Amino acid sequence: MASADVQMGGGAETETFAFQAEINQLLSLIINTFYSNKEIFLRELISNASDALDKIRFESLTDKSKLDAQPELFIRLVPDKPTKTLSIIDSGVGMTKSDLVNNLGTIARSGTKEFMEALQAGADVSMIGQFGVGFYSAYLVAEKVVVTTKHNDDEQYVWESQAGGSFTVSLDTTGERLGRGTKITLFLKDDQLEYLEERRLKDLVKKHSEFISYPIYLWTEKTTEKEISDDEDEEDAGKDKKEGDVEEVDDDEDKKGKDKKKKKVKEVTHEWVQINKQKPIWLRKPEEITREEYASFYKSLTNDWEDHLAVKHFSVEGQLEFKAILFVPRRAPFDLFDTRKKLNNIKLYVRRVFIMDNCEELIPEWLGFVKGVVDSDDLPLNISREMLQQNKILKVIRKNLVKKCIEMFFEIAENKEDYAKFYDAFSKNIKLGIHEDSQNRAKLADLLRYHSTKSGDEMTSLKDYVTRMKEGQKDIYYITGESKKAVENSPFLEKLKKKGYEVLFMVDAIDEYAVGQLKEYDGKKLVSATKEGLKLDEESEEEKKRREERKKAFEALCKVIKDILGDRVEKVVVSDRIVDSPCCLVTGEYGWTANMERIMKAQALRDSSMSSYMSSKKTMEINPDNGIMEELRKRAEADKNDRSVKDLVMLLFETALLTSGFSLDDPNTFAARIHRMLKLGLNIDEDAAADEDADMPALDEGAAEESKMEEVD
Ligand code: ADP
Repeated sequence: MASADVQMGGGAETETFAFQAEINQLLSLIINTFYSNKEIFLRELISNASDALDKIRFESLTDKSKLDAQPELFIRLVPDKPTKTLSIIDSGVGMTKSDLVNNLGTIARSGTKEFMEALQAGADVSMIGQFGVGFYSAYLVAEKVVVTTKHNDDEQYVWESQAGGSFTVSLDTTGERLGRGTKITLFLKDDQLEYLEERRLKDLVKKHSEFISYPIYLWTEKTTEKEISDDEDEEDAGKDKKEGDVEEVDDDEDKKGKDKKKKKVKEVTHEWVQINKQKPIWLRKPEEITREEYASFYKSLTNDWEDHLAVKHFSVEGQLEFKAILFVPRRAPFDLFDTRKKLNNIKLYVRRVFIMDNCEELIPEWLGFVKGVVDSDDLPLNISREMLQQNKILKVIRKNLVKKCIEMFFEIAENKEDYAKFYDAFSKNIKLGIHEDSQNRAKLADLLRYHSTKSGDEMTSLKDYVTRMKEGQKDIYYITGESKKAVENSPFLEKLKKKGYEVLFMVDAIDEYAVGQLKEYDGKKLVSATKEGLKLDEESEEEKKRREERKKAFEALCKVIKDILGDRVEKVVVSDRIVDSPCCLVTGEYGWTANMERIMKAQALRDSSMSSYMSSKKTMEINPDNGIMEELRKRAEADKNDRSVKDLVMLLFETALLTSGFSLDDPNTFAARIHRMLKLGLNIDEDAAADEDADMPALDEGAAEESKMEEVD
């Protein structure tokens, strides 16, 4: 926590707090780095004001008295040239003293660090709002910021800071009373005085904050010339409307020709002028809204600095009525799958009144990247979070939103370039959808894209895969693994490739889960190339006979290998799927694949019971057509206890672990075995080299090595 330093001065206590370290860094970055795009500070502060207004309006739905201290909901901008200050005032929820201390300086948001990293990587400062630290953008234009705030549950407090490591908070007993809400006063830097100009402020609000659903008023100054008589003048000055100043105009001509009592004066008057339109965009007809308008609404909704990738604006009528606009962003946010973060992407309105923006019932988690608004005519205004959870109307809305989102994704898919962008950012979400949404699973499968043995640089859809299927091919083949590189030359694919069967590369961790649920596409089974029971097709009688013979010939070797490997493998069989490699390790049809085992290990799965139950039961498949196997067979036949057979089998097993996508638990023993083979190949005398290798484990019968090998399992 920050250290608080208490000073007594001017009657009120002033406490000094140190900014949390990361916030402090952020502030110096904002202050000391050159950004041309400083104007975004206003959007950020107005957006905070709007959020604060949303909060109090929501509270007031269940307790009207919350508005008593200030019934009107507004945002006001007050530029003041004499003091070079710009104030942003809202009648929102305000902050208590502890809110002030926590929210504005002592507790860093998770986005603080991410934002700094993004900035240093060249990101634009206008991204600040996405990282949840928008308030600090005030320091782009201000050398000092004063925040006066009044919350219903606390007194009025003032926060003040010129950055530089600390801020102060004090009780405000003398300042102008806010009733309720927050006033942020920016003491503008000398080169930022443009933000005192009405024109500039109006343009900025139009550009960035047009869709704020509260009135934004600008305190404007009007100068009019007026002809008055001398005595009028005095009276008038006394009852000056508002804060207008009256300046005398020295008009020589006037004085000469006419009655000296008449003269012209410049009268300065002030008034509040509303500078945003407020009609919600979703109430308008889609055909009358331009792409620019959607983009600017999208930006105001999300703080994104880029336009949306796609939009869907629709209304549902009939038994249930609601209007909605949904957007797909161009990029995934930095915290897309951060479970600490609450979803707040769809804003829920009831008859134009904002209700909440983190309603989890509104949209499933896998669609957490979709942004937008929903405005329902049927929900009660004073609906509570608890009521929402069971609300039938909400369930229907949710169903419709999912449907419309999927429609929108298919629309994006009509444009290749856009879809590539979409898929790059959100394919994980689609796969999560396949995993979780049984109703839409089949439809979502059409959105999947994979690299494959035949797709080249492009990715293929399942639909296209099916059109390329060979005659007689019944199933859709895939292989899972860590990367495209790791799987494209896998021994598992040898036979499939030879037959000309296309194999999809599923190299995203989540593929493993998604495909586990999907199971089939278009009536065709999805079959893993690395699991047991891969039946490629009907073979001719001749082939069958040949295979049986081979099997017989290698039966004895299979048994020898199984004896050597012991529990490391479930069984050893003659393979149908490999063509070139000597052997591979396949996993049971319903257990984990090598890839899944890798993923689970990475997740440090605590529940070891689950992992021993599910972890891969490996079957070693050997290739009778491979020279190494043939040689092994001969040696084993000659002498079952041949030392070199044991060594070779262990080595083959370990290499197969690697090529089949498993990991080696004890790479040292493996390396030692390889080194020994190298020496054999190089004709280095084993005994002569023994001294140097004193620390190397003995290679075969040694008990020490045996126990080490156990760990491979
Ligand atoms: P964000 O608005 O993204 O949460 P900010 O850095 O802009 O992050 O603001 C930090 C917090 O300070 C807000 O979450 C809010 O609790 C509080 N805050 C900022 N401005 C206001 C305001 N005008 N009225 C009430 N609270 C505010």
